Amino acid sequence: MDKNKKKINVTSDNIFPIIKRFLYSDQEVFLRELVSNATDAILKLKTLVNSKSEGEYLDNYLENDLKIIIQIDKKNKTIHIIDNGIGMTKKEVEKYINQIAFSGAEEFVKKYNTSKNYIIGHFGLGFYSSFMVANKVMIFTQSYRKDESSIFWSCEGSPNFLMKEIEKRDRGTEIVLLINEESKEFLEYNCILKLLKKYCKFLPIKIYLSSKDKNNDNEKDVLVNNVNPTWKKSPLQLNDKNYLDFYHELYPNQLDDPLFWVHLNIDHPFHLTGILFFPKIEKRIDLQKDKIHLYQNQVYITDNLEGVVPDFLSLLRGVIDSPDIPLNVSRSHLQSDRSVKNISKYITRKVSDKLDSMFKNNRENFQKKWENIKIIVEYGMISSQNFFNKAINFFIFSTVENNYFTLEEFKEKIKETQKNKDGNLVFLYSSDKEKQDSYIENAKSRNFEVLILDSPLSVHLIQKLEFHDKGISFVRVDSDHIDKLINKEKKFDSILSKEEKLNLKSIINTYLIENYKFSIKLENLSEKDSPFLIIFPEFLRRIKEMNDVGKDVLEEKNQQKYYQLIVNTNHILMKKILRETSEEKRKEIIQETLNLTLLLNNLLTGKNLTTFVSKKINDLVK
Ligand code: ADP
Repeated sequence: MDKNKKKINVTSDNIFPIIKRFLYSDQEVFLRELVSNATDAILKLKTLVNSKSEGEYLDNYLENDLKIIIQIDKKNKTIHIIDNGIGMTKKEVEKYINQIAFSGAEEFVKKYNTSKNYIIGHFGLGFYSSFMVANKVMIFTQSYRKDESSIFWSCEGSPNFLMKEIEKRDRGTEIVLLINEESKEFLEYNCILKLLKKYCKFLPIKIYLSSKDKNNDNEKDVLVNNVNPTWKKSPLQLNDKNYLDFYHELYPNQLDDPLFWVHLNIDHPFHLTGILFFPKIEKRIDLQKDKIHLYQNQVYITDNLEGVVPDFLSLLRGVIDSPDIPLNVSRSHLQSDRSVKNISKYITRKVSDKLDSMFKNNRENFQKKWENIKIIVEYGMISSQNFFNKAINFFIFSTVENNYFTLEEFKEKIKETQKNKDGNLVFLYSSDKEKQDSYIENAKSRNFEVLILDSPLSVHLIQKLEFHDKGISFVRVDSDHIDKLINKEKKFDSILSKEEKLNLKSIINTYLIENYKFSIKLENLSEKDSPFLIIFPEFLRRIKEMNDVGKDVLEEKNQQKYYQLIVNTNHILMKKILRETSEEKRKEIIQETLNLTLLLNNLLTGKNLTTFVSKKINDLVK
C-alpha cells in the first residue's frame, strides 16, 4: 500500500452518500462554504500580521494583493477556489481536514437527519459539502510559515484519502473540485457568478471569478463583491443617497425607493449590524420575494428570518448581520434562544424609536407616509405589547375629512360631543366612505367626528385599543341608529299603543320572513327620522369580521342574516300601514319603503341619496 494513502477515522463508514442525499436541494452551498473558508484564511493572516507575534514567519505581503480567485475549467471539469491566506501545514491538514472537519460533517449529517425541515442555514458542514458536487476533491496548500512544506491532499468521496508533500508553492490554499456528472451545471460561468452574487456579494475579501474558457467573450474576469458594504459603515459617514444606493444594490429589481430606514448597530449583549428599509406597502400584500437577508460576518445565509425578526416586521427589507444567531437548530429552539429573543426585542425597539422620532420631528412628513406604513404599525400593535406601548403615542387616526389625530388628541377633540350616558367616549368609524356615506352624513349632521378604519386588521386593533383604554369604545356608523350609536338616553314617547306596536311588528315580520333574512326591532325614534333603518350591529359584525379575515366578502344575500331592520314606530308611515285594509296595498308600502331604505343605506348602489329618498317617502305617505 502507498504510504501516503490513509483512512479517515470515522464511525459511519461512508458519509458521502448521506451528505449527497440529505443536502441535495441545497447543493449550491458548497461554494459559500469554500469561499468562507478562504475568506477566514485571509482574515486570519491579517490578524497575525496585526498582532505581530508571528511576524518572523511571515512573508511580505501587500494588503491589496489579498484575494480569492474562483476559476472554472470547463474542459477539465474542475472548479478552483484559490486564496493567498494563512495556508495549512501537514499537521494542520491532518487535524483540520481529516479529523475536525470530518467529525463536524458527521455530526451535521446526524442533526440534519432529525430536523432537516427546520434548519434555517446550513453552516457547519464546511469543507465536506464539496462532495455534494464533486467526485474528487484536491487541496494544494502552503502555510504562511515559510519553513513548512507544501502539501497535496486528495479524496474521492470515500474515507480513503491521499496526502503528500509537493514542490514548494506560494502561500495559501487551492481547492480543486472535479465536478461530477449530475452537477455539471456548476461548470457554467453564469451559474457560479449567480451563486457568488447571492452568497458572497458583500464578503470582506476581494473575490474574482475567472474562466479558462477564453473563447467566450462574456466570461470575463470580474470582481464579484463589494468588500465594504454600507451596513458596516458608521451612520455618521452616510447620507441618504448612500442608503438608497445600497437598497438598490441589494434589490436590483426594485424600482421604487424605500420610504425610510433604520441603521442597526449593537455590540452588547450581542453583535448585530444591519439596515432595515421600510418599502412602500400596497393595500394588497402579495407574497413578497424581496425579503430581509440574514448575513453572518458578511456571508449571506438565508432570507428566511422566521423567529428572528418579529412577524410584523417581515414586510421590511434590508440586511441583518449577526454571528449570534444559531443556525443549525430547529425553529422552536431558535425562538427560545436568549440571544434571538434579545435580537428580536432590539429590532422592535429600534423600529419603534425611529417611528417615534419621525413623528415628533416632522409630523407632516410622517403623515404623508402614514398610509404606507400603517399596516405594519397596526400589525405590530396587535402582536407585540412592547411595540403597542410605544406606538400608541404615534399611531394616528384619520377622519373621513382627512384630519389626523393621535388617540389622546382625538379624545380631547370629542370629549364634549361624543360622550355617552356612562361617561365613555364613543369613537365612530367607517370602514368604507362610499358605501357608508348616508350614515356618515347623519353623524356629521350631529357634529360627530367619524374615523376611517379600513384596514384588514382594524377590527383586531379596535379590540386591543378598547382593552388598553377602558374609557373608549368603537362603533361603526352603520351599526345602529345615529341616536343609539352614542347612547345619550334621549327618549321619545311612543305614538303607537302597545297593541298597535304588536300588530305592526307581526305585519312587517310576516312580510320579511317571506322575502328577507333580516331580523326586526321596533324603536320609538324621532318623527323626523326615517321609517326604516337597516343596521349591522357592531357586536355581530366584529365576530363575523374576526372569522372572515382573509376571506372574500360574502355575497349580499348571505350577509343579510347579520342585518337588523329598525322600525321607527313614531314615523307616520306606520299609522298608514296599520290603517291600510288591503293586504296587497300594505305589502306594496312595506316593499317600497324597504327598497328605498336599502337604497338610502347604500346596500344597493348610489351615494348620498338622502334628499331623493326622503322625498320619495313623503310621496308614499300621501
Ligand atoms: P469550519 O470552517 O466550520 O471550521 P471546515 O470543514 O469548512 O469547517 O474547515 C475545517 C478547517 O480546515 C477550518 O477551520 C480551517 O482551519 C481549515 N481550512 C479549510 N479551508 C481552508 C483554507 N482555504 N485555508 C486554510 N485553512 C482552511
